[in-house]
Amino acid sequence: MAGQADPGGRFDATAGGPTGVADPQFDQSASYAIDQALVRRLVSRLHSTSGETVMAFAPFTGQPLAAVPQSSVDDVAAAAQRARTAQISWAETPIAERATALLRLHDLVLDRQSEIMDLIQWESGKARKHAFEEVAHVALTARYYARTGRRHLRTERRYGLFPVLTRAETNRVPKGVVGIISPWNYPFTMAVSDGLPALMAGNTIVHKPDSQTVLSALLGVELLEEAGFPAGVWNIVSGPGPETGPALIDQVDYVCFTGSTATGRLVGRQTADRLIGCSLELGGKNPLLVLADASIERASAGAVRACFSSAGQLCVSMERVYVADSVYDRFVRRFVERAGQMRLSASLSFEGDMGSLVSVAQLATVTRHVEDAIDHGASVLAGGRPRPDVGPLFYEPTVLEGVTPQMLCFGGETFGPVVSVYRFHDEQEAVALANSGSYGLNASIFSRDVNRARALARTVKAGTVNINEGYSATFASVDAPMGGMRESGQGRRQGAEGIHRYTETQSVAAQRLIPIAPVLGMSDRLWAQSMTMALRALRKTRRP
Ligand code: NAD
Repeated sequence: MAGQADPGGRFDATAGGPTGVADPQFDQSASYAIDQALVRRLVSRLHSTSGETVMAFAPFTGQPLAAVPQSSVDDVAAAAQRARTAQISWAETPIAERATALLRLHDLVLDRQSEIMDLIQWESGKARKHAFEEVAHVALTARYYARTGRRHLRTERRYGLFPVLTRAETNRVPKGVVGIISPWNYPFTMAVSDGLPALMAGNTIVHKPDSQTVLSALLGVELLEEAGFPAGVWNIVSGPGPETGPALIDQVDYVCFTGSTATGRLVGRQTADRLIGCSLELGGKNPLLVLADASIERASAGAVRACFSSAGQLCVSMERVYVADSVYDRFVRRFVERAGQMRLSASLSFEGDMGSLVSVAQLATVTRHVEDAIDHGASVLAGGRPRPDVGPLFYEPTVLEGVTPQMLCFGGETFGPVVSVYRFHDEQEAVALANSGSYGLNASIFSRDVNRARALARTVKAGTVNINEGYSATFASVDAPMGGMRESGQGRRQGAEGIHRYTETQSVAAQRLIPIAPVLGMSDRLWAQSMTMALRALRKTRRP
């Protein structure tokens, strides 16, 4: 049976290419010849016995992209069994070999970036420069865990009960089979990067990408195998989230989920029932603060990158901009000017500043949020219109003013190229505004006084705070953990936290010479007295 990638509205199967006449300033010259040999090769990697396929569509044009075989519940169980079998020998592979494979992956993704970016663009409709961010992020993550994995995973000495007599240490042992559930918005890096530390730690993987972006994930696995990771360590399954997701969670020892807060809650409940751990990277309504001393040029350029990257379909992108009263007019004028100059493009070249939305459902949400804001009295300072002349799912970079709490886009995540600008009078008020709502994923502060901005950052409820950048300073600093506070998630990717989540901490303590019990016929009373003396003596040392 052939179905739709998203019956709720990716594309109508009858949808054709772009409609209307192209505005000359927009580039539609790209060749949309999707490499069918590549599609066939990738799709053949899916083990599916269901006989069902779902059609994925290219957002730039609405053309069919690939009929993706769907995994049955049995297919998911078989994938988990393959992962479990592979994990036994993978956990015994020396760390140096795992690190070498990661560095090979690093080189491969840079060498094959053109093919990777083509596929990302076909599946997600984003601009090429935003597709490149994904390539770079996978390379950064691969190098980071290749170089630091040994340190993060090493056995550590701990204080034993008695000096000399009790030697305690902790091991980092793999969880076993890790389940990854990834979204469509960063189809390559959200598919691959979270799994790299899991592999480095000796786990194997069962992975369910979003139905729209299975091909990018399959290309990731092909590259992993070329880099030297054995077949069976990374197993992809495909299918509708509400069916395949729970089937996957039933089979694995830990879940790494990236997606919406609503689905994150379901994943959290299911993992709690199974008493397995999970990391949840969820939504946000991220604030950007422009302090009175900020460089207007730098802040307005940074805000454009922060708000419209991947057409705003980026978990860490900014949807609320708070500007100090004294610079509000200057900042807003420059920001709106820059937003208006952005080139929308459905091209596979680096010419465009912003690509398309991914689906009919995303376009409907963005349109609804903007129309609702206008109906309730907000002003459109830039954009505010779909652009079917560029491609069926394009929407202009949009800046709104006068957004109030009764409007949908005030506190709800739009996940599109729509941002609201507000004034603030003092920095305390700015932080209170930034901390309003229930999310806490990312925040940004623009100021010439970096020390003051750092101090302010501590008071902002967000898992990452970028100073004089929107999101990429923290996101690309892969030694720094990334994740959400409050309803934006739990757990962290990247850094030590990003690999430790995939391990169990095992304590091993060896007792020498005497047991931890009365010796040589000593009574329990005498043992208690001796222990009391020993505890008092230890209290006088600096030992913790
Ligand atoms: P989504 O929650 O609908 O889907 C995410 C993934 O979960 C998909 O693979 C989907 O198939 C799967 N899924 C759906 N229902 C499921 C279920 N019941 N059980 C298990 N898995 C299920 O999210 P979306 O709307 O496609 O993605 C956009 C959202 O993701 C936004 O809210 C965005 O902020 C968030 N996001 C967060 C991050 C982050 O790092 N914090 C990164 C990217 C996207």
